[in-house]
Amino acid sequence: MAQGTSDDVLALDKAALGEVWTSEAAYTNLRDLCDTLGHRFAGSPGERGACTFLQERLQRYGLANVDAEPFRYVGWVRGPSSLEVLAPWPQTLGALSLPYCPAAELEGELRWVGDGEAEDYARAGGAEGELRGAVVMTAAETAGRLGRPSSHRRDKYMRAVQAGAAAYLYVNQNPGDMPITGGLPGGGKGPAPIPGVGLTFETGELLRRLLDRGLARVRLKTQAGFPEVESRNVVAELPADPSSPTREELVVTGGHYDSHDIAPGALDNGAGTVIALEAARALAAVARARGRGFARTLRFCFFAAEEIGLLGSWEYVRVHASDLDRIRFMLNLDAVGRGFPGSGTWAIAWRYVIASAPPLTISPSP
Ligand SMILES: [Zn+2]
Repeated sequence: MAQGTSDDVLALDKAALGEVWTSEAAYTNLRDLCDTLGHRFAGSPGERGACTFLQERLQRYGLANVDAEPFRYVGWVRGPSSLEVLAPWPQTLGALSLPYCPAAELEGELRWVGDGEAEDYARAGGAEGELRGAVVMTAAETAGRLGRPSSHRRDKYMRAVQAGAAAYLYVNQNPGDMPITGGLPGGGKGPAPIPGVGLTFETGELLRRLLDRGLARVRLKTQAGFPEVESRNVVAELPADPSSPTREELVVTGGHYDSHDIAPGALDNGAGTVIALEAARALAAVARARGRGFARTLRFCFFAAEEIGLLGSWEYVRVHASDLDRIRFMLNLDAVGRGFPGSGTWAIAWRYVIASAPPLTISPSP
């Protein structure tokens, strides 16, 4: 490295990555987050516990301006749900309400609408009223689109709503008798327009086989609560060096720390949460060792209530509107701990925090 700045960046990179590679903090933080608090669903005690956990860690790591920013909205509390086959082979199947599913008890003709893409609804006569009053069932994941984008759950659900369906069934693409979840439109405001529930892959296959043999009607029962709740975005900073000419600028990283309510959310998004925490810890340690801050302020954001409709990040943008022009770069970490054996995905993901734009992100102050 010929230039002093490049040498300095390299030394800084080595120091920060060395800190990460020789520490167990990321693992123990993930373990503590997932094993001791339960799920972190929006507005739940677990989400509140995670908020406290994050503030405590950030303060321990020496971050500045550690804050929890509250906001209120209409929450959702899961109740029991079931799907009954009425005839000719009556049986009760498991079903899992999707967040913001309203309470309901209804019957309807079961209709399989394939992948739930626009063309699938067209083929099923959605525009001609053929699905009115029906219980519409689609695959959760659209496969084999040959480069064309596939629709999000909310799009598939809203097509059912627009076709006048009575309810929507969302079928897991992964075998293993696992339920599937994901928020419906209405997050933060109130009940979604029609009930929507997740089914296991196996239940979906069973219903399709029964449809082939003439099954027509099902009954869906759901219960849910819609209490007003509070969540908190957690924000902290490593202030820029006071002598830096770019000290007013911000580089932001972070991710959402809430989860769904049916699992600890270790991947989505415990992983992104602890990687952002780890970046904060390592960079704070490096700044301390160097005795000076970086060229720009590094801001770490941990958003609440993401899974039900990005409520935390929208709230952050609303509250921090005056900061937006100062942000030079934002790296959002979501489900980044996905395990691809041998790839070192965690290291790669967090290395981006430091190295994706080295001169911009962490060039040492003059
Ligand atoms: Zn996520």
